[in-house]
Amino acid sequence: MTEEETEEERRRRWWEREVAKERPKTVKCSKCAKDVDEFMDISGRILCIDCYIAEEEKEGRDALDMAGEAGGGG
Ligand SMILES: [Zn+2]
Repeated sequence: MTEEETEEERRRRWWEREVAKERPKTVKCSKCAKDVDEFMDISGRILCIDCYIAEEEKEGRDALDMAGEAGGGG
C-alpha cells in the first residue's frame, strides 16, 4: 500500500495553509485602534477584549434602560 494523499487530506492541508496565511498575528481594534492578538468579531467589527467588555456593559445598560421605560407605568 502506498501512502497516497486523499482528496480530503489535500484539501485540509491547503486550507490550513490558507488560514495561516490569511490570519495576521495581530489585528487592529476598530474602536481604540490598539493592536491585539485576541479579539472579538462583533457583526463584522473587530473589537479588542477591553472594548468588547465595554460594549457589552453599555448594551446591557441600554437594554435595562429600555426595559425600564417599557415596563414603567405600574
Ligand atoms: Zn479596543
